Amino acid sequence: MSPIAYTCPTCVAHGEQADFGILDVEYDYEAAGKALWQPEGRMRSARSDVFRYLPVLPVEEPPVVLHAGGTSLVAVPRLAARLGLKALFVKDETRNPTRCLKDRATAIAIAMAQANGFQDLYCASAGNAAISLAGFCAHSGLRGHVFVPREASETRLNWLRRYDADIHVSTGNYDQAYDEAELAGADNGWYSRNCAFNPFLVEGKKTVALEIGEQLEWNVPDLVVAPVGDGCTLGAIGKGFRELRALGLTDHLPGLMGVQAEAVQPLVRRFRGEDSIGGDGATQAASIAVRRPRNALRLLAELAVSDGSMVAVSDEQIASAQRLLAQEAGVIAEFTSASAVAGMLQLAQSESLAGKTAVLVITGGRLDSDF
Ligand SMILES: *Cc1c(COP(=O)(O)O)cnc(C)c1O
Repeated sequence: MSPIAYTCPTCVAHGEQADFGILDVEYDYEAAGKALWQPEGRMRSARSDVFRYLPVLPVEEPPVVLHAGGTSLVAVPRLAARLGLKALFVKDETRNPTRCLKDRATAIAIAMAQANGFQDLYCASAGNAAISLAGFCAHSGLRGHVFVPREASETRLNWLRRYDADIHVSTGNYDQAYDEAELAGADNGWYSRNCAFNPFLVEGKKTVALEIGEQLEWNVPDLVVAPVGDGCTLGAIGKGFRELRALGLTDHLPGLMGVQAEAVQPLVRRFRGEDSIGGDGATQAASIAVRRPRNALRLLAELAVSDGSMVAVSDEQIASAQRLLAQEAGVIAEFTSASAVAGMLQLAQSESLAGKTAVLVITGGRLDSDF
């Protein structure tokens, strides 16, 4: 297995879609199950970060890495009552080292780089993936090269400066920064921390689903909601739950619900079978303002097997959901992440959720301004 086997050699040559030919990692689940559990049913690993699930990860335990994952699953009964749910939980990814779910993928990238002798890693990012890479590189003594869009906020640039990253601010949007990063990465032989492209990193993100399963004692929820940009995060969550099923821990898959901002909703359109290119509008939900999603195929496949859905919400809905989450759950989410709450509120208006259990994945907690 090559650490830089990012795409299928036969598919990419004549692929039409941006994500055509991206590979997927699979395991021998029977062997993995034996490696994960002791015969009496206790998990073998004493770790509480993403490497707890090493038998279903494509890496060895890395020597030097920040603690990613192992975040709380918080019951939020006040919000559950408001939404008419039997139970509602927040998977609080704001508790990661750089305050974002992206740290889970970065931990894998660091492990891959360390195991394969890379000193340099790169990524394109609206901010969070870049900050995550910069923080983890600072801790591990590696060099992070980050490519951010012109509109990256001063707050986000400051985080990058504090971690002493090699910062490249694009003259264009995220989609342009992405292309610039891929060119520079290939030219310089850096290791890729672009999740939408490097299939090993998705393996880090899927651990959020493995943890939710373990925290609910394998009673998987009816619904899992997360914001969607490239589609990598929710696609990875879908893969994680499918692996719990492959490991024989559950018969059920949760319905996945992806949320995008009304102004930029190519994956909502694509899910409905409409034209996928779309969204010239502006949204404050910077981390999901992706006009050319790189992981559409993977996400759509996961939505199909989980009987999932995609919804769009307005910035006004997101802003009020952000306040509600703080006031009724005690969790401060960044604007993008509050879209998951807004999507759930919208769903509750159109159908009864009585008797159901749901998890809101609060992907990040970095505020770009006072609110
Ligand atoms: C990156 C990001 C997302 C979206 O993830 P995709 O893999 O691009 O779909 C959602 N929320 C936050 C906070 C993010 O940083």
